[in-house]
Amino acid sequence: MATDRVAPEKIRCDACPVMCFIADGKIGACDRYANHGGDLVRLDPLTIIENTSHKLVPFLKDTDADDWNGDIVQGNRPFVTAVGAGTTYPDYKPAPFIVSQEIDGVDMVTVVTEGIFSYCGVKVKIDTDRHLGHECDVVRVNGEPIGHVMTSEYGSKMLSLGGVEHLTGGSKKEGRVTCDALLRLCNREAVEMEIGDEDHTTTVVVEAGKPPVVNGMEEKLMRVGCGSATIGMFPKQWVGHVDEVVVVDDHITGVLSEHQTGKILDVAPTGIKIKGRKSTPGRYFQVAKPGTGWGGTDIEDPLTILGPFNPKIAWEGLSLLMVSTTGEQYAYFVLDADLVPQAAEIPDRLKASADLIAENCEPSVCSVLFMGGAGGSLRAGVTENPVRLTRSVKDSLTFVSCGGAETYVWPGGGITVMVDVLDMPTGSFGYVPTPALVAPIEFTMRVSDYATLGGHMSEIKKVSEIVSVETRKVAQIGNQPDPMDHTNYRWARERR
Ligand code: SF4
Repeated sequence: MATDRVAPEKIRCDACPVMCFIADGKIGACDRYANHGGDLVRLDPLTIIENTSHKLVPFLKDTDADDWNGDIVQGNRPFVTAVGAGTTYPDYKPAPFIVSQEIDGVDMVTVVTEGIFSYCGVKVKIDTDRHLGHECDVVRVNGEPIGHVMTSEYGSKMLSLGGVEHLTGGSKKEGRVTCDALLRLCNREAVEMEIGDEDHTTTVVVEAGKPPVVNGMEEKLMRVGCGSATIGMFPKQWVGHVDEVVVVDDHITGVLSEHQTGKILDVAPTGIKIKGRKSTPGRYFQVAKPGTGWGGTDIEDPLTILGPFNPKIAWEGLSLLMVSTTGEQYAYFVLDADLVPQAAEIPDRLKASADLIAENCEPSVCSVLFMGGAGGSLRAGVTENPVRLTRSVKDSLTFVSCGGAETYVWPGGGITVMVDVLDMPTGSFGYVPTPALVAPIEFTMRVSDYATLGGHMSEIKKVSEIVSVETRKVAQIGNQPDPMDHTNYRWARERR
């Protein structure tokens, strides 16, 4: 890292556009760099992933440095991540580490840098039926808008947070709060956010890998399916044991006797009347308003979605099970002489069917995916001809990882990547007060391909020069490929 001395006791950090002057013993504005006796040092250690013979192991807590004997055979494929690597600025300077090693007879190189991402954000998937907000509702933290609600997915609500508009396009406070919320989410911390406006506000606490907390209640289960799907999955639990089943769902409420499933299984019509818009037989939309009650509706009493039974079809003694899409809520009724449902004790067999629905629900968790644009200036730290890096990524000659975790590279132009923060080492993210997020990114390829795309060849160092006792060692997470494995690359696949 080049430094420019301006006074005996201060040095200037040139790792980002802020260009802090840092006094001896102090740290810079981002908490990442410090002045240690006149030397500018990156405070977090460089993180190395130890890939030991491709062994799939759970992601471990940091290895105690004392356990490390300096023998790189301990991790026979050490992968130098960009976590703690530092940043070079302006971007034309070569990346902080350009590391080579031979992998199965092929010279590979990894270009390692902590990218400063002004164009970045997170996509959050929250496994819950509960209504968190309407599409396009604003998501706020500390009163500042940081994103919005996206299209719901199957059993999950989606949020899009951050992005350049919130980081740079609003007030200074909006940018600062957005950056801080992104940083905490990406570093697996809990962030409380408010969704919607005064007449419909939901409070949600999001933490990667943890259940969401909605209006103070921790969510437990992700729904087994929509109401119609639930009817299709569990009819054998009901036919012969109850006359009618309604699976209450905010999106598609299912009715056994009318559903194709009931027709095939000879379930007799019951004369039931569901309030809401009929889609196809046994499938109803908009039976209630969205909310945090049964099946993501706003109801606590399931009978409110029923109209009067048809007296020409229904009969006294008709039994009715109403259940939510997670099986957590259920109620059993029997029609009286006036064909009005009266609550009754649920038979064990039907209680077991609600339990079976719950058993088939997966735990509700929050997933946080970092998304950033790496197709801009940081490419200059890799090559003097940046577009060649973009083409190399598209051609599967270059593997892109973030903290050693495989990224999804979006199709089309640029290098827009997405990665699950849980696949990355802890503490992978930082920030600079511009404001922007700092995220690790590595580009791995053959040395020959690096030369072809105009790489900074004179800056290549052997991995043995980089791995030291000061570096932090972590194990690769079990589901992640080794970035240097040949099967990641087109040239290896074509050879087979
Ligand atoms: S904010 Fe951090 S990276 Fe930027 S100049 Fe200051 S100390 Fe260096």
